[in-house]
Amino acid sequence: MAKKKKSGGGGESKSKSQKPRRTTPKPPVKLYKFYKVDYDSGKIERMHPTCPRCRGNFFAVHQDRKSCGDCGYTEFVAAK
Ligand SMILES: [Zn+2]
Repeated sequence: MAKKKKSGGGGESKSKSQKPRRTTPKPPVKLYKFYKVDYDSGKIERMHPTCPRCRGNFFAVHQDRKSCGDCGYTEFVAAK
C-alpha cells in the first residue's frame, strides 16, 4: 500500500502586515489658558472677552474684531 502524500494546497499563509497606526496625540484643551487664577485672593479672572448675548461664551479674538462662534455676535475693535 502506497500512501499518497497529499500535497496540501494553500499552505502558504501570508502574514498580513499590519501597519502601525499613527495616531497624532491631540493636545488637551487648556482651559486654564482662558482664566487667570489668583491664588492669593482666590479670584478667577477671565482672560478673554465673553459674549454678552450668550453670556459666558468666549469670543474668538481676531485682529480687528471679536466674534462669538455660537451666535455670531461680532464686535469690531477700533483700529488704533
Ligand atoms: Zn454669542
